[in-house]
Amino acid sequence: MGVPLASESRLASLRGRRPTLATLCSHSSLQIFHGARSEGYSTLGLCVGAPPRFYDAFPLARPDRFLSVPSVKELPGVAERLRAEGAVIVPHGSFVEYVGAQTFAEIDVPVFGNRAVLAWESDRRKERDWLELAGVSMPKRYEDASEVDGPVIVKYYGAKGGKGFYLAKNREALEDFHPTGPYVIQEYVLGTRYYMHFFYSPLSDRGYRVGHGSLELLGMDRRDEANIDELYKLGAQEELLRAGIRPTFVVTGNVPVVLRESLLPQAFDVAARIVERSIDLFGGMVGPFCVEGIMTEELDFKVFEISTRIVAGTNLFISGSPYSDLVAPGLSTGRRIAQEIRRGESEGRLNEILS
Ligand code: AMP
Repeated sequence: MGVPLASESRLASLRGRRPTLATLCSHSSLQIFHGARSEGYSTLGLCVGAPPRFYDAFPLARPDRFLSVPSVKELPGVAERLRAEGAVIVPHGSFVEYVGAQTFAEIDVPVFGNRAVLAWESDRRKERDWLELAGVSMPKRYEDASEVDGPVIVKYYGAKGGKGFYLAKNREALEDFHPTGPYVIQEYVLGTRYYMHFFYSPLSDRGYRVGHGSLELLGMDRRDEANIDELYKLGAQEELLRAGIRPTFVVTGNVPVVLRESLLPQAFDVAARIVERSIDLFGGMVGPFCVEGIMTEELDFKVFEISTRIVAGTNLFISGSPYSDLVAPGLSTGRRIAQEIRRGESEGRLNEILS
C-alpha cells in the first residue's frame, strides 16, 4: 500500500460514479482526451471562450463536452460544476502555468498526481535542493559572478521558454550582463540534450521497481528552440551580438530521439533517485514526469530541469514510441494516465494517485 494523497472529502465527488477526465484545451489535450476515450472515460474540455475549432479535425480526440470560462484565472470559480460532473483534472504544463502554481494547488477538485510537487518544482532553488538530495549530476551553480570559470547560462526565476536567458562565454563576458530581476548563474553544459518521458506508478507491483511502485520510460524527445537551434548557421556569437542578435530558447516544436542503449541504466538510475527522494520529501511524484538534461562527451547526464507532469514532447508518441511499445504496443502517456486512474478505481486506491 502506498502513500494516501487525497482525503475522503476531496474524493467525495467521485463516490459511486465513473470519473470524467478533464483538462485545459491546449498543450497535450488531444493526447489526454484520446487516451481517456481509449480507456472508456468520458471527457471534458476546459476552454477559454468558444471551444477551439481544431478539435473538429480530430474526431478521436475531441472531448465529449466543453466547459467554457471567460479567463483561465476563473477556473477555481467553476470547481463546484467540475465536482458535479465527477471531474478529475489531468494537469499539463500549460494548465499549471496559465492558472498559476499557487491557484492550481488550491483548486477544490480531484487532480491526477500529487499537487504537493508544485511547491518543489515551481521554485528553481527548491527544485535544485530536491535534485541535489537525490544525488543526481547537475550543472554547477555559481553563487557569485566572480567564481565563474567557464561558459555560463544565466536564468531568471520562473522564466519559461528560456526567454531572457543570458549566455556568457567566460567571466569577462558576464560583465556585460545587467540583471533585471532575481537570477541564477549556471554552468553552460556542452553536450546533447535529452528530454526523457518517464511515468511513475505507485500502484504497480511489477517491472522496474522503485519505492513501492514502478518506473516506466515512455518516450524521449529533443526540443526545437528558436532562435538558438539554428543560430550557428549565421556564425560565431560575437558576430551575432555585434548584429544585435541574442540567443533565445523559445520552444517551437519537438523531435523524437532515442538514447544509446548502453546509457539507459544511467537514465533509469537518475529517474529512480528523483522519484525516491520525492517520496521522502513530499509523499511522492505520481504519473508522468520529464527528466531534462545534457549528456556530455564523458557520458555524464547533467539534469538542468524536471517537469513533473505530462510534457508536450509526448505528443510525438500518440501511437506509441520505441520505448512505450515495449511496455504495451501503441501506448501513449495520455492513455497511460487513464489506465492508472482505471486501476486506482478498480482497486479502490484512487486516494494514492489523486490529490
Ligand atoms: P530551462 O528553462 O531550464 O528548461 O532551460 C531552457 C533551455 O535552455 C533548455 O531546453 C536548454 O536548451 C537550455 N539550457 C538550460 N540549462 C542549460 C545548461 N546548464 N547548459 C546548457 N543549456 C542549458
